[in-house]
Amino acid sequence: MAKYDVTYSCGHTGVVSLIGKNEERERKLQWYHDCGLCPDCYAAKLARENEMAEAKAEEQGLPKLTGSEKQVSWANSIRQNIIEKSESVSLNEKGKDFMKYILETETSASRWIDLRGYSIKELFGEYLNSYQAAQR
Ligand SMILES: [Zn+2]
Repeated sequence: MAKYDVTYSCGHTGVVSLIGKNEERERKLQWYHDCGLCPDCYAAKLARENEMAEAKAEEQGLPKLTGSEKQVSWANSIRQNIIEKSESVSLNEKGKDFMKYILETETSASRWIDLRGYSIKELFGEYLNSYQAAQR
């Protein structure tokens, strides 16, 4: 392992530890320079994205999530990603209703965090029982 001075794409400098073959290290250093953000700018970018997701959720009339501040902020972004995913698979009316049910009833931030990376099909599988129970 060796330490390298890097200039990130945001213009800030830092020190990174790299391991692996020389060419791989070179590639990583180039990546930091071309697209990498320093830890501070990266954290700020995430915070901005989470804030935007929260504002969007309010616009969409989605329920507020419960959990720690950190969880809620992350879960808002995850929920928006899942909404975008659901819009990209062109659901039929029943699917849309199912999606609406999940969005209106799932308010636990930690639950949304567990659901990150789920496909819409997996998401529906997860909520099928409670959705069907709610139809009765
Ligand atoms: Zn920076």
